[in-house]
Amino acid sequence: MPHDRIAELIAPLRVRPGSKVRLPKDFDPGYTGDLIDKAAGTELLQRGVAMLADFQSRLAAQHTNGLLVVLQALDAAGKDGTIRHVMSGVNPQGVRVHSFKVPSAEELDHDFLWRYATRLPARGEIAIFNRSHYEEVLVVRVHPELLDRQRLPPRARNGSVWRRRFQAINNFERHLTDNGFQIVKLFLNVSKEEQRKRLLARIDRPEKNWKFSAADLHERGFWRRYQQAYADMLTHTSTEHAPWHVIPADHKWFSRIAAAAVIVNALDGINPQYPVLDTQARRELQEVRGALEEG
Ligand code: ATP
Ligand code: MG
Repeated sequence: MPHDRIAELIAPLRVRPGSKVRLPKDFDPGYTGDLIDKAAGTELLQRGVAMLADFQSRLAAQHTNGLLVVLQALDAAGKDGTIRHVMSGVNPQGVRVHSFKVPSAEELDHDFLWRYATRLPARGEIAIFNRSHYEEVLVVRVHPELLDRQRLPPRARNGSVWRRRFQAINNFERHLTDNGFQIVKLFLNVSKEEQRKRLLARIDRPEKNWKFSAADLHERGFWRRYQQAYADMLTHTSTEHAPWHVIPADHKWFSRIAAAAVIVNALDGINPQYPVLDTQARRELQEVRGALEEG
């Protein structure tokens, strides 16, 4: 994917820092840019995947920066498929995927960012958070009883707890980017109608039955509140150092291209290079070469 093509593709998906987001009004889940269909996007995705593989290998070799990819979405928006496709060309040694579920008792005994902090990428690595610290202002906000389980002292609960969490998250991410860890934040934005179809498919198609969970239907009942929580999260946590991109997710083929493009763009910003040896090291290498040639 050429640079300007990537820039053109992802510009409309970026949440401008400081802007107030309303959902579903501001971002159309069915958007596909100037691409008409899956066939039109196939080559673009292949090129994106190849670029990602190349960048990942440079990132590992340079060993200076790390990349954190945050994936957030409602159920059936396609998080798993996005990870599978977008990362298909990458050396598995360089990527770690962490899926965050309902917190354990041990995790609940710590501050709300603790379990995420223990799984951050090292230098040279890409980490993917399948769900992330953002659940702390999404599911926990939609279901206040989850906040009760966190056993917060009164001063952490009182007043604008969500505002304070947004601020804490922004500071946490700022600390990471200041220290060489770039953050890509993707919200896979699926429509209520498309989610309905996908959940139905999980019931109707035997090979998808394992994916069906009655809990997904229960959460679907909170659709409006989730949209509001997502909108507020986008409004307050899309920053210059770690902006959000809203990935239209009703067409899986497009969401994969868009996700790949945002990640490629971030890696391009890091521009990792293979280390070049200095004169002394090159001379030593030649000496070793000579010894090897002699047998
Ligand atoms: P799948 O595609 O396999 O369904 P998933 O990410 O939905 O993937 P599940 O095991 O179905 O995984 O669900 C994980 C659940 O954990 C979600 O309902 C999510 O909201 C919940 N969860 C994640 N983080 C937190 C948190 N910090 N507090 C409470 N619940 C959380
Ligand atoms: Mg689920």
